[in-house]
Amino acid sequence: MAACSEELARAFPAHLHEGKVNLKDLLPSELETFVHILGQSPYRARQLVRWLYVRRVGSFAEMTDLSRAFRQLLEEVAVLPSLHLASPQESLQDTTKFLFTLPDGNPIESVRMRYLEHLGPGRLAVCLSSQVGCAMGCEFCASGRLGLVRNLQTWEMVDQILAIQRLADQRGERVANLLFMGIGEPLHNFRNLLRAICILNHGDGLGVGMRHIAISTSGVVPAIRRLAEKRLPLKLAISLHATSDELRDRLMPVNRRWNLAELLAACREYQAATGRRITFEYVMLDGVNDSLEEADRLVGLLGGLRSLVNLIPWNPVDHPSFRRSSKIRVRAFQDRVQQGGLRCTVRREKGSDIDAACGQLRIREIRRYLGTPTRAEHMPAFSLNPPPGVRTEAIEAGLDARKACIEEQSVVGNYV
Ligand code: SF4
Repeated sequence: MAACSEELARAFPAHLHEGKVNLKDLLPSELETFVHILGQSPYRARQLVRWLYVRRVGSFAEMTDLSRAFRQLLEEVAVLPSLHLASPQESLQDTTKFLFTLPDGNPIESVRMRYLEHLGPGRLAVCLSSQVGCAMGCEFCASGRLGLVRNLQTWEMVDQILAIQRLADQRGERVANLLFMGIGEPLHNFRNLLRAICILNHGDGLGVGMRHIAISTSGVVPAIRRLAEKRLPLKLAISLHATSDELRDRLMPVNRRWNLAELLAACREYQAATGRRITFEYVMLDGVNDSLEEADRLVGLLGGLRSLVNLIPWNPVDHPSFRRSSKIRVRAFQDRVQQGGLRCTVRREKGSDIDAACGQLRIREIRRYLGTPTRAEHMPAFSLNPPPGVRTEAIEAGLDARKACIEEQSVVGNYV
């Protein structure tokens, strides 16, 4: 037994939880290695995949077609940790927000949406988080103002879906679409992101099709290129939000590292490699980025790309500097973009009645747990023309983001 545990620890050093192998953190192919080390046939790995992702049990004792001796062995060398579901928050708009607590006490969130037009009845879309907090420091985003705490492990992404699917089972519903659009920059957690997608997509498990999985990025160009090299038919969404480097530098510090020209070149590479249409998210901020001139520039920027522009009515978070664009302005912007020949939709505001703007629930929960104000309450007002020499907190956050991006280049570079 001791020799077996040591061999497992050597084989899976990055996937130990409280000294035992975390089976939820392993790819199906790694489960085969795991059962091989335990002297079992590869068939046992397929049984484990089915118990974990089809029957969705939470303990080895429930895996009743495994022998008692094998279950006992599993108890000794492996674990099946779970996220703690802290507070599902029902919405009037068929949207539910879930706040989970991680084993280290950090909260993360996921959003479940049902009755989306393009999904059939009983099919759900889930927006999940990839990090605790986020390093990117986008000016309009509550999560960005909290900073990055850490990357989620693979199983922490997968378990958001397992927990939601378990609830969906009671209504005969199925999670059919995944959106890595919750808290965090998913491409900053590249390796764990792809591992989670591999598990969620596996045909013996949940079987969510790659074409139904979307990754939303603020524009980490080397990681977009690396993703293109994988040639996976994943949907890519770009948080664009501005049509000039001057404005995007201010709204999204990542633009100071990789500007619009570099970002759009990477998008073209992604499209050439995968054949997938690319969605460009554009949050409508009154008087900041919602003019007809901006709409014309957007048409010019995206020329030659097969794209969908998704206009997002801004969700008021604790930020005094932005106002949402009026419906008339949003409509005029949409018309102008469509006249320019691009597909352009306006995102339905699912979840706005439950603070479904990225990170809002987490901020509120942190306040509730800690009883202390968060950075969000100390943010300076957004200004297009700050006095020379004045560095706003957001720009400082951008410098942090830039450092994180540079570090990420080596992480992404190491990914095989
Ligand atoms: S919008 Fe996305 S990338 Fe930007 S700070 Fe928020 S979570 Fe991070």
